[in-house]
Amino acid sequence: MTSAAKKPKKVLIVGGGTAGWMAANLLAVHWRDVDISLLESSDIGIIGVGEGSTPHLKFFFDEVGIDESDWMPRCNATYKNGITFANWSLIPGFESYFHPFPAQTDDIFTVPAFFNNINARMQGYNTNAHPDPYFLETYITQQNLGPIPTENFPFGVAYGYHFDSGLLGQYLAEKAISRGVNRIFGTVTEVLMHPTGELASVRLDDDSLLSADFFIDCSGFKSLLLQGALKATYISFKENLFNNAAVVMPTPISEIIPPETKSTALSNGWAWKIPLTNRYGNGYVYSADYITPEQAETELRQHLGLLDNDVAARHLQMKVGRVEKHWEKNCVAIGLSQGFIEPLEATALALSFNTISGFIKSYEQGGYTNQFEDAFNKEINARFDGVRDYIVCHYKVNQRTDSEYWKDNAANTHLSETLNQILHFWYRGGDFAKNMYTNNLVGSYQPKSWACLLAGYGVFPPLRSDEKSTQFKSGQDMTQLADFIRRCGLNFKKHNELLIR
Ligand SMILES: Cc1cc2nc3c(=O)[nH]c(=O)nc-3n(C[C@H](O)[C@H](O)[C@H](O)COP(=O)(O)OP(=O)(O)OC[C@H]3O[C@@H](n4cnc5c(N)ncnc54)[C@H](O)[C@@H]3O)c2cc1C
Repeated sequence: MTSAAKKPKKVLIVGGGTAGWMAANLLAVHWRDVDISLLESSDIGIIGVGEGSTPHLKFFFDEVGIDESDWMPRCNATYKNGITFANWSLIPGFESYFHPFPAQTDDIFTVPAFFNNINARMQGYNTNAHPDPYFLETYITQQNLGPIPTENFPFGVAYGYHFDSGLLGQYLAEKAISRGVNRIFGTVTEVLMHPTGELASVRLDDDSLLSADFFIDCSGFKSLLLQGALKATYISFKENLFNNAAVVMPTPISEIIPPETKSTALSNGWAWKIPLTNRYGNGYVYSADYITPEQAETELRQHLGLLDNDVAARHLQMKVGRVEKHWEKNCVAIGLSQGFIEPLEATALALSFNTISGFIKSYEQGGYTNQFEDAFNKEINARFDGVRDYIVCHYKVNQRTDSEYWKDNAANTHLSETLNQILHFWYRGGDFAKNMYTNNLVGSYQPKSWACLLAGYGVFPPLRSDEKSTQFKSGQDMTQLADFIRRCGLNFKKHNELLIR
């Protein structure tokens, strides 16, 4: 049989949240000759949170040919240079650090100096080992500059976005429909299978049947098709990551809109602050095993200075983990239905994008057979596990002792082999980046991101007490480095000026 003969004629996406509509747009762009329908329920809403992204959202928009000037104003979107982590460490000088998205200037000019200084700091020399002075996007964030350089700046700068997730869903729905995707409203009551064990159709609440050759499960935490009908095994990350709930509420936006997400550690979790053009989105991600939803809401209100209860709060539960196989038989799951890692690094949409675009490539390369199913599942699992390890590391090396929650996190021994090795190479000292590469430990995050996290929390041995402690020569004049970054910064505009409102 030729590959063309096997290409699915009909694809049904079940679920109209961000994952479903992202999948619809990508499929509509790549498989123009396929009949694509998206089913969503008017009775079951979308999760309606998830307002921060990594640079992958830009890759998505580039791939589907949508301009920032079109989608950003429609979704109250702002630019994101990275994330500030505040109060995760109480070590003097390390109470806060910034995790920037990468800029080309970092690798070429400034990150070598950072690694040089942290290597020396691991040997007890008193060098400048805080990550903030070494990254261009940290500097531009401190100056409230957006991440779009002038045309004559010859270096690439990666960035993400903040956006209203409800508006983004509506926008993506409109685009997908204009590209020929058929939108259907209805609630699935039953999933019917072929005798081969493949999915055949879904029955809706009006008793009609919708059949397809291939199914995309975007039904959220329920995972109706993959975990429900196909009984995919679910691997919980509960032992690695304790948070399982969130409480969310908005506050008014400030006049100067910061180009960053802020993550502040609270008593039993952390609070996000995400700037949109019309409001801040705030949420407290916590473990309901340590505090009640009421306590979490009160603490978030205090943190935000919302002393009255005028602003309504939304409470959410989170299921943290992933399926063992994201693609099985004639079904692939995208979004919460495939898994979710708590939102500390805002990675969910990036994982959704990787899954759908990786699936399209693997399915095409395999001539529309399941030839590359195993390799694809392995690749997506590695991405999920890489993100999980990076997030677990935040909790493992936290430097707080004010609650059982933080102490239990620091004492947690449920760490992957990869994370154990990364921590080993950090604490052992030496060339951290080289050790990560030679031991095959570079996955979802680059060594500079790991170093940023570990150095950002001030996880260093004590300084040497002998006279050599001040004699280390970093080979890099920090004043020159700061001046270089400042001069690069002259190529960027104020964030507020970049926003169309
Ligand atoms: C607290 C929290 C914070 C988050 N923060 C971020 C963040 O900063 N960045 C980020 O990238 N992600 C974040 N996420 C994740 C993000 O919200 C989701 O990945 C994203 O919204 C995609 O969700 P979804 O489309 O998979 O599911 P949903 O939005 O839940 O959509 C599910 C869809 O399935 C449909 N459905 C369900 N059952 C049926 C049925 N029986 N019949 C028919 N249709 C059905 C529903 O109608 C709905 O359309 C966060 C998540 C949480 C919980």
